[in-house]
Amino acid sequence: MYSESKEPPVPPQSEQPDHGDEESQSLSKKAAKKEAAKQEKLRRRQEAALAAATSSLSIDSEEDPLAANYGDVPLLELQSKTAVNISDWTKVEDLNNSLENKWVLIRGRAQAIRAVGKKMAFLVIRENGFTVQCVVQVQPDQVSSQMVKYTTALSRESIVDVEGVVSVPGAAIKGASQQVEIQVRKLYCVNRAVPTLPINIEDAARSEIEIEKALQAGEQLVRVNQDTRLNYRVLDVRTPANQGIFRIQSQVVNVFRQFLSSEGFVEIHTPKLIAGSSEGGAAVFRLDYKGQPACLAQSPQLHKQMSICGDFGRVFEIGPVFRAEDSFTHRHLCEFTSLDVEMEIKRHYFEVTDIVDRLFVAMFDSLNNNYQKYLEAVGRQYPFEPLKYLRQTLRLTFEEGVQMLEDAGVDLDPLGDLNTESERKLGQLVLEKYGTEFYILHRCPLAVRPFYTMPCHDNPAYSNSFDVFIRGEEIISGAQRIHVPEFLEKRAAACGIDVRTISTYIDSFRHGAPPHGGFGVGLERVVMLFCGLNNIRKTSLYPRDHLRIAP
Ligand code: ATP
Repeated sequence: MYSESKEPPVPPQSEQPDHGDEESQSLSKKAAKKEAAKQEKLRRRQEAALAAATSSLSIDSEEDPLAANYGDVPLLELQSKTAVNISDWTKVEDLNNSLENKWVLIRGRAQAIRAVGKKMAFLVIRENGFTVQCVVQVQPDQVSSQMVKYTTALSRESIVDVEGVVSVPGAAIKGASQQVEIQVRKLYCVNRAVPTLPINIEDAARSEIEIEKALQAGEQLVRVNQDTRLNYRVLDVRTPANQGIFRIQSQVVNVFRQFLSSEGFVEIHTPKLIAGSSEGGAAVFRLDYKGQPACLAQSPQLHKQMSICGDFGRVFEIGPVFRAEDSFTHRHLCEFTSLDVEMEIKRHYFEVTDIVDRLFVAMFDSLNNNYQKYLEAVGRQYPFEPLKYLRQTLRLTFEEGVQMLEDAGVDLDPLGDLNTESERKLGQLVLEKYGTEFYILHRCPLAVRPFYTMPCHDNPAYSNSFDVFIRGEEIISGAQRIHVPEFLEKRAAACGIDVRTISTYIDSFRHGAPPHGGFGVGLERVVMLFCGLNNIRKTSLYPRDHLRIAP
């Protein structure tokens, strides 16, 4: 890649045009002729494609006087030929009883097509995970049998415009989310999908419970495995559950941004290309930066702290971070979205946990109050209980947590890290005792925290740091940071870090640095655990793990 400010690459000598002598002039004439012929060929090919796209319409129009009511939309019409009013289209999601007997136009995908004899067909149209049943039935002067045939010949997942009248059937509609039908009068295919899809959306949208039930009844339903889903992610994300997951994810980011902006935080953007080896450690992606050793940022940690030294007071960042994780776990990715916060504090790191508390209660409330339909869509495929959380978030010290685990018979190192199993167990104990699945564990052992973590004033074995858990799994790490450069150097050296490699970071504290603290949140983990999902790949649109770097 070349940046805009740089000169474009110079082609090798033999490829450079030279208009100096006669020989090269005749050569360029030849090249122009060749180019003209190429353009003509391309034009003819486009014309042929256009003719093919419109042929089905023209054949039908000769035979059927109602042919104008259906057919493939010619490509020409979709090349921005005529401006339209997009409010003429109703969203599938908005189709309800209040529109009974009204004429509507919708656009969506042909999810399911079923012929009922030659005179009737059912078409389920899906838009953004919402579905409606459409009835194409022969009607004198309105719907011909050729139109029914045209409907049944559509390939699934093709994009169609449907016009018709809304009706409200007496009984519940099983195969669609909207409880109204459309009596179709016009049907136009905007773009056709290939007839055979690698994944059927109904298969990808099926819950484990349905598959198991069918199995017990002696019927084998298709189960789409994780790898196939991820290989054909563009199809997989069309399921209602996935549409819900990524809308919920978007709302988590919205609330994060809105809440922090309203509290006086400034959104910043720190570099992802870092000289040296980021915060060190093995989990770093190294790269060659035009001859210099560099790496991809493992977090915006150092730069967000430097921005506090730059007097922004309170900052946040939403961006990708990269970790060369080399094991396959249900909660680690090699690239994830980090929601980061850093802020000046007056005296105590509780000023930071107060922000965590209010931010996350606001986020959970917002999802529960405004995103119910998406939560339900997720729950239909992956059933889960709503998250239990308190109006004021529970804060436990690490020592209290260890005590609870020891009381429950768990054997552990009181100054070590909690392993996944202990974290889960503690989550269960906290739920039983305090009735919450969201809590803050603070005063964590210093030995298991990064070098820049401020030790506790009363016991240097512990630190002014915290982790935050949802359903027994970590979503946040945070702490008060060391803002005194000499102290920072001492701690870096004690943790085996060569201070010369982080000199610009340490130097930024030499010109007066305010006391500060902050935290980092893994976006995909928040969504995974809020929705009770079992794998982080479900909440990453195009996940990257140690085996996967495509699509
Ligand atoms: P863990 O102990 O779970 O590996 P960590 O202590 O390494 O996490 P931090 O470096 O403190 O995590 O990162 C802050 C947050 O970023 C974590 O709480 C988690 O939500 C998220 N996170 C960390 N590593 C990953 C990863 N590999 N994939 C997805 N999210 C991650």
